[in-house]
Parts: sequence; structure tokens; C-alpha cells
Amino acid sequence: MSDGPSYGFDTLQIHAGARPDPATGARQTPIYQSTAYVFRDADHAAALFNLQEVGYIYSRLTNPTVAVLQERIATLEGGVGAVCCSSGHAAQIMALFPLMGPGRNVVASTRLYGGTITQFSQTIKRFGWSAKFVDFDDLDAVKAAIDDDTRAVFCESIANPGGYVTDIPAIAEISNAAGVPLIVDNTSATPYLCNPISQGATLVVHSTTKYLTGNGTVTGGAVVDSGTFDWSASDKFPSLSAPEPAYHGLKFHETFGPLAFTFHGIAIGLRDLGMTMNPQAAHYTLMGIETLSLRMQRHVENAQKVAAWLEGNAHVAGVTYAGLPSSPYYERAKAICPKGAGGLFTVALKGGYEACTKFVDALELFSHVANLGDTRSLVIHSASTTHRQLTEAQQVAAGAAPNVVRISIGIEDTADLIADLEQALAKAHA
Ligand SMILES: *Cc1c(COP(=O)(O)O)cnc(C)c1O
Repeated sequence: MSDGPSYGFDTLQIHAGARPDPATGARQTPIYQSTAYVFRDADHAAALFNLQEVGYIYSRLTNPTVAVLQERIATLEGGVGAVCCSSGHAAQIMALFPLMGPGRNVVASTRLYGGTITQFSQTIKRFGWSAKFVDFDDLDAVKAAIDDDTRAVFCESIANPGGYVTDIPAIAEISNAAGVPLIVDNTSATPYLCNPISQGATLVVHSTTKYLTGNGTVTGGAVVDSGTFDWSASDKFPSLSAPEPAYHGLKFHETFGPLAFTFHGIAIGLRDLGMTMNPQAAHYTLMGIETLSLRMQRHVENAQKVAAWLEGNAHVAGVTYAGLPSSPYYERAKAICPKGAGGLFTVALKGGYEACTKFVDALELFSHVANLGDTRSLVIHSASTTHRQLTEAQQVAAGAAPNVVRISIGIEDTADLIADLEQALAKAHA
């Protein structure tokens, strides 16, 4: 596709990054199932390895199918570049890697995907990194948590699982003033519902496993760079601003300007961490993204109906969906994700932990799985599964208390979804 910055979202989700295959004319993006690429000659090979010329060397670094997906996601997010990775969790490490170092910390919201809380509170300690968890509704607490060793601020746009919506512009103002990048995990919202970069985010991360692929086939992740952060404004980000010994003293920011973070992600991150997305996964995700807006419209429409129905059910203690007027985030959601509050919410049952486990066992159409963002409706009891490693206080803070079930609404008929929920609620409370 030629440069078409004026194209709408529905056009870009199909065309951005793709063009008919130059060798065959194939209209759909081929799966370039190749590990290596032949150099034109020895000089070409040397220029590629010196980062003087952009091209394909080896598929741990770059692959033509994955490159189309990278450009498509970057375009939809309004970024200058993106690096795809093997999973959403890989993308989070890839986003932090150029920023962090031993003794450095990330200031993170308490409302995050359970796996991210575990990754940040436990595993990153092995690298000498740490996370400070703060309630992101308390802006003074976020400000106070940022110290001289803070290298990033991290939150989710619509947080998984609790129907919590982050005030991205307010958090961006704080991180900007402190001279550190804001990373927003936009998995639950997708670029169709929310544009963190236009609201001030520096980097956007995705688990493409979820809505972007959309049908539960492959894991993947992406890091999108806004291209707006000045990595050389302080000496806090030497990986991007100082000479890189592995490339004869090249300075990424000076050499690549707004593309510094993306080039670093490929030339250092994928080269040495190897969290590469494979071309088959990129193909499935490209297929999924072609219908992203259509699916998200239906996810939102269905979630809205089902959440409202659940809220009126006698067995239900509460529903956290930012699309319901009862949600404390109802007004904020209209500003942050104006096309809808997503397809994910939680429901608290009056019968507590036991009713929740009976409920998930009694559902027939909903699948009890550790996934979300599928065309099928999915359900999980977070406290006994994804958030099991957390303390009860952390579970409550993350919106995954023992009496809470997370629901990911698919694109089926809502009448069928409601009928299934109704019979399972009756059994759970019998
Ligand atoms: C699933 C998920 C992740 C992790 O992604 P994987 O692809 O499973 O590694 C991160 N953040 C959010 C919000 C998620 O839903």
C-alpha cells in the first residue's frame, strides 16, 4: 500500500504494511517460511551487519511476514515502528530491556493482568530490576513513587480483569514531567477502542494472542514505539543514547532518531534475547487483524447487553464493566475508549468462592480457559487460576477477589450467552 495516512481504520487494518508479493503478485501476504536470506554480495552482507542498510539477514531478527504485521500494528497504534515477539510477556520484557538495568525500577499499576504482576513482582528481580506497585487512581502516589532509579511507568488502558480504565493523559503528564517513558499495555482495548499514543503514551505493548489474532490460535506480542521520546535528554537511557560496543560505538538515538527504540529492539533485543515471533504466528495474526474493528464492535455490543443482564440477576453481587452507568469508570471510559469499554468484565457472585467454581463448571457454551479476546465466550475464576500466585490482598487490588469470575464475551448470539449464564447461575446457587 502506498503511504495513505488519511485512510480510515477499517482500511488500514486490511492494507497497512502489505503489498502484492513482488516476486509472484500473491495478493495475500505469503508466509515466508525461511530462516535466512541470500546476500547480494559480500559488501551487501557487511552493510546489513553494520546496520548501514536495512534488509533481511536471519529470521531471529527480521522476517518479511512478521515485518508486515509490525508495520500494520504500528500504523493502527499511530506509532513509528513496532517489534513483534513470541508472546505478550516477551513484549513486556522487550519493552523494559533497553530502559532498565540493575537497581532500576518500573512504577506499575496494581491493576494488571495477573501474569504481569507475577513477572514484575518476582521474575524481573533476577535481572536486578524491581517494580513499585501503586494505585493509579491516586495520582499523587504515582508521582511520589517515581524516584531517581525509575526508568518506566507501566499500566493497562482497560485493565484485565477488573473493568478498570486508566486515566492515560493524567499518568502521561506525570511520567513526562519526570522524564521517563509511559508504557501502556493495550491488549484488552486494542487500537480500535483506545489509542494510548495519542493520549501521551511513549510505548504500547500487546499480547497479540488476544483480540488482535482474535480466535485463540497463536501466542504473540508487540512493542510499538511512538517515536516521540527524547532518549538523549538525560543520561538515564544509555542503551539508546550512549555508544553501543556491539556495533562499534554506534549511538541508536543519534543514528536512527525516532526509530531508535525499534532498531534497538531488533538489533539488540531480538538478536540477544531471541523472543522472536515466527512467520506462521504472524500470518494468523494478520488474518485476525483484518476483521478487528468488526469483531470489537460486536464484542462491545454483546458485553454491554450481557453485563447489563447480569447486573439485574438476583445471584449477582456486582458487575465491573466500564460500559455500565454503575461503574465508577463509566465517564472516564467515554474519554479514554470512546468506541466502547471492551469485551471483558468481572462478575461477583453472592455465593462466594464456592458458587464461582460451581458456576464455571455448570456453563456449557462458555469455555473455562485461561484466555480472553476470542470469538468464543470464555470464563475463568481468576482467584483459583491466573491470580492464584497472588496474596488475597493483591487479588482484591487486581480486581480478582475470591468471589469474582472474569468473563470474556465473544461474538455469538447474546440470547444464547444469557441463557447459558442463567442456567449456570441457578445451579451455582441451588
Ligand atoms: C494475556 C495478556 C498478557 C500476556 O500475554 P501472553 O501472550 O499470554 O504472553 C499481558 N497483558 C495482558 C493484558 C494480557 O491479557
